[in-house]
Amino acid sequence: MTTVGILGGGQLARMLALAGAPLGLRFLVMDTVADACAGQFAPLLVGDYRDESALAEFASKVDVVTFDFENVPATSAEWLAARVPVFPNPSALAVAQDRLAEKTLFRELGIPVPEFMDVPDRLALDAAIAAIGTPCILKTRRLGYDGKGQFRLKSSADADAAWQALGAQAATVGLILEAFVPFERELSVVAVRGRGGEFRAWPLTENWHVDGVLSASLAPAQVDAALHHTAIAHARALAERLDYVGVFALELFCRDGVLSANELAPRVHNSGHWTIEGAETSQFHNHLRAVLGLPLGDTGMRGHACMLNWIGAMPDAGPVLREAGGHWHDYGKQPRDGRKVGHATLRSDSGAGLMAVLARAGEGLGRQAQVAPVLDALRGR
Ligand code: ATP
Ligand code: MG
Ligand code: MG
Repeated sequence: MTTVGILGGGQLARMLALAGAPLGLRFLVMDTVADACAGQFAPLLVGDYRDESALAEFASKVDVVTFDFENVPATSAEWLAARVPVFPNPSALAVAQDRLAEKTLFRELGIPVPEFMDVPDRLALDAAIAAIGTPCILKTRRLGYDGKGQFRLKSSADADAAWQALGAQAATVGLILEAFVPFERELSVVAVRGRGGEFRAWPLTENWHVDGVLSASLAPAQVDAALHHTAIAHARALAERLDYVGVFALELFCRDGVLSANELAPRVHNSGHWTIEGAETSQFHNHLRAVLGLPLGDTGMRGHACMLNWIGAMPDAGPVLREAGGHWHDYGKQPRDGRKVGHATLRSDSGAGLMAVLARAGEGLGRQAQVAPVLDALRGR
């Protein structure tokens, strides 16, 4: 009996545990809080990620360790890796945890990236604004997620306000200034690399964010074959350089038909949730296969799929469940503003079929605004 240890007990750990059940896997999830939603399906060890006695107990009970979130302290990942196999490896995790290291690596690999500069102090912010221009975004280098820890500057007159908002974090998690990209679309490559170097990617996904939080994803993205190929080649280059094992997502902007990289998420990713019902092998199954050294599954998809995120509170499931291609996921979380509490995936064999299903479900849910950009993309805009 193999036990997979997961650091972090959110919805990603929960979906990993659900995916692992048919493979005969056991799980142990470690989280800092007792009501972590993965705990509804897997034994939960409550402890601090920096506490060596909690980590020792965790390590003694699992055969392999992986992550449900990227902000596990790198030192804890290394501590564990000295005792039990950890995938992705802690040095890959360390790169993905730091926007400066990550963007420097993109550049090194020839992956286009928006202009960026390290901002260690207030003076450096002025210099970076002068060099990069406006609009631009000040972001924390570490610990940001769902658009948290970011400040958008329209002009250099916003520098004081930006520093007011984030300056205190320059000394703790670091800051980076990035050019704002007026993209036409956001895309992500969700891909997987096995222990032996085998690489597979799911079809490119198009994503829409609201207030920095993912709202909807569409697969396959409506892009031409050359763009698709380039995006996947970027993901592959990154995975190979980092000797990455497991599933990851590369978030991309597309402007005037040209790609630039936003960030690397070293884990299963929200923009890959559609793979549960939309692909031959889901990202959760393939992540488990990868970290266990099993053969990877086919990443092909059937038809077209759209994922809608539920933020704050769950809507009524009826309008989705009534659809033939409608699938519902409730993470069992308490409602809270801005919190990802569930998602739905709608799937159809044809683009026209998906449009019909989405339009009906969107109306039934009262979520016309959420589905509108996806319908536009399917229509070819
Ligand atoms: P995630 O939850 O994806 O980890 P995050 O907090 O790490 O989010 P980003 O992915 O950097 O944040 O930014 C969130 C969203 O904000 C992006 O998906 C994009 O819509 C927008 N955004 C971020 N950086 C830029 C940029 N340089 N130009 C334009 N839009 C941007
Ligand atoms: Mg991120
Ligand atoms: Mg992101």
